[in-house]
Amino acid sequence: MTASSVAQYCGYCLARFKANESRCPECHAIAGGLGYRQAQQALLGALTGRAIGERRVHLIRLIGNRADAGAAPALVEFALDCGSDQVEALAVVECLDRILVGPARLDALRRLNQQHPDDVVRLTAAQALTRYV
Ligand SMILES: [Zn+2]
Repeated sequence: MTASSVAQYCGYCLARFKANESRCPECHAIAGGLGYRQAQQALLGALTGRAIGERRVHLIRLIGNRADAGAAPALVEFALDCGSDQVEALAVVECLDRILVGPARLDALRRLNQQHPDDVVRLTAAQALTRYV
């Protein structure tokens, strides 16, 4: 296996591209040679750290677009931590509702339905749950 056949992932947008490319073909960020889990952690770190407002919603969608059920617990923790920000929490519900599949999605939606401090977020999670149970 040559270096060019190995993939790397973008730590800013989760795009997959060849290991020998120096920039992400999607967002043109400098490539960091990250594996998928490392890149996902970079996005989750940005979500809970320095990112603000619309960037957070964008990051939630990028993470959700990968349809990786493994990201569900971290997204739920983020939604619970950002309690007062309804837009971000609803983006998480939308992401879980449309993209993630299986028991991880049900567990995540149940947690938001039971534990989120915002009425609209709890109701939206409950409505999503009615489609799966
Ligand atoms: Zn990128």
